[in-house]
Amino acid sequence: MALLAEHGDEAKVLAGGQSLLPLLALRLAHPARLIDINPAAELTTINDGAGLELGAMVRHRSAERSADVRREAPLVAEALGLVGHAAIRSRGTIGGSIAHADPAAELPAVLVALDGSVVAVSRRGTRTVPAGDLFQGFLTTALEPDELLTSIRLPPWPERTGWSFREFSRRSGDFAVVGVACVIGASGDGRVERARLAYSGVAGTPVRATAAEALLAGAEPSDELWTQAAQQAAADLDPPADLHGTTAYRRHLASVLARQALIEAWGRAKGAA
Ligand code: FAD
Repeated sequence: MALLAEHGDEAKVLAGGQSLLPLLALRLAHPARLIDINPAAELTTINDGAGLELGAMVRHRSAERSADVRREAPLVAEALGLVGHAAIRSRGTIGGSIAHADPAAELPAVLVALDGSVVAVSRRGTRTVPAGDLFQGFLTTALEPDELLTSIRLPPWPERTGWSFREFSRRSGDFAVVGVACVIGASGDGRVERARLAYSGVAGTPVRATAAEALLAGAEPSDELWTQAAQQAAADLDPPADLHGTTAYRRHLASVLARQALIEAWGRAKGAA
């Protein structure tokens, strides 16, 4: 904290290094100092109390394999299995993925879908930032230069809740062209109680499909409903075109993936009922 307070503007925190080191190697980042937080053992804990709290230095691979995470936040475990390759996940950290805020990354979309938050600590104090306020643009968060992200917090996993993370990438291990995190809750009478859809790869930040979520809430589940919600979700997006796909292609993927995710998540919600 002292180092960040003194050098925050010209320093970078070094966590797993899986995004920062490529940026340094390509000379896209040239901080005057690196503050290595790898020795901070207190940032490596997973606490399961009222919800789940994952320390910033929990490696992707540890979280992916954690029984607590698989039970209390199975969407996190599923999404982490899609991050890069096992070697990258062995070094990459939860805090690094969130702080880096790559719009194509899985974890920011998951944090948004689950209504999670992050704990940010500086010498000035500690604050909690909800996911909805955290992601501000391409590789940009609401974290101040002197703040360290110390953990992420996820609310308790409600009963009768299904999940799915679906994405499309050109090759296994690549960043996905489009991804979608889906959470869906079943009511006691077999209707959709609530739904969350949050996309990666369609804008500078994760994007929630709020109109599709509203359409799903309280509805009778049916094949037609999943199709309609997926089409609504995709229609509301205005994804950028790049080397990997046009706007129309990304929108098409967004619809196909949302439909797959809704069907899988609903099946799991019913299984958990
Ligand atoms: P670092 O690289 O150490 O840091 C990244 C940024 O976050 C830096 O700016 C750093 O200063 C900041 N930071 C890190 N920790 C904190 C903290 N606690 N508080 C404040 N700031 C902090 N990621 C995906 O999500 N999906 C993929 O499919 C994917 N594929 C990849 C494929 C390859 C080949 C590679 C090399 C990487 C890939 N990644 C992917 C990135 C990987 O997941 C990174 O591990 C992750 O983005 C950053 O985590 P890190 O711990 O390595 O952070």
